[in-house]
Amino acid sequence: MNKIIVANWKMNGSQPFIQEFFRAWEKPNNQNKVIFCPPFPYILLVKQFCSLVGAQDCHEQDQGAFTGNVSAKMLHDLGCLYVILGHSERRQYHQESNQLIQKKAENAQKNGLTPIICVGENLECRQSHQAIPTVLAQLAESLPIAGDMIIAYEPIWAIGTGLTATTREIAEMHQAIADVYPNVPILYGGSVTADNAAEIMAISHVDGVLVGGASLKPEALMRISA
Ligand code: PEP
Repeated sequence: MNKIIVANWKMNGSQPFIQEFFRAWEKPNNQNKVIFCPPFPYILLVKQFCSLVGAQDCHEQDQGAFTGNVSAKMLHDLGCLYVILGHSERRQYHQESNQLIQKKAENAQKNGLTPIICVGENLECRQSHQAIPTVLAQLAESLPIAGDMIIAYEPIWAIGTGLTATTREIAEMHQAIADVYPNVPILYGGSVTADNAAEIMAISHVDGVLVGGASLKPEALMRISA
């Protein structure tokens, strides 16, 4: 099955870094989709090297007096096809609510972008066996009503920590999500590396991965996408 690999560069990179990255990068010869999500200022530069580009956030309105924000309409104008929404870092550092994420996702769809909507439980929630109901509740409030979208399940305790959920934890969560949203691709994210990606993507209902740290290394991302 073809997989979706999302490279979330977060607030990393520079023009020389991107030139160097794409000198080393070669898209594996398969049907997997690799979507690069650089910081806003580098979207056009990254577009020169690959066709599938996304952003890491957008505003919920098309334009107006919102200093410092970027709209989905502008991202579409630049050639973006995707936008990551509701990443746990945005939920934590920018107090983004499910309701706001849903508004952003609907505006992104209206402007021709596919939203990649992130959800995930914290460690306390996982340890108290509330992970599945918590994630399903987040999804019920964050997803747009219909239209193209991608779900990214990212346990917060696994993001950037080197900890990954177990095969069983991933399988149970993805099954629970697929039972409710059978036609939406579901990605896993949280310390995915070149060494564990194949095993994770072999799990039922894992349609791909969202990769942070490892996506900044061309060789690692090529192995993950192979
Ligand atoms: C992420 O960016 O959502 C992520 C999962 O990061 P990392 O792969 O570094 O854990």
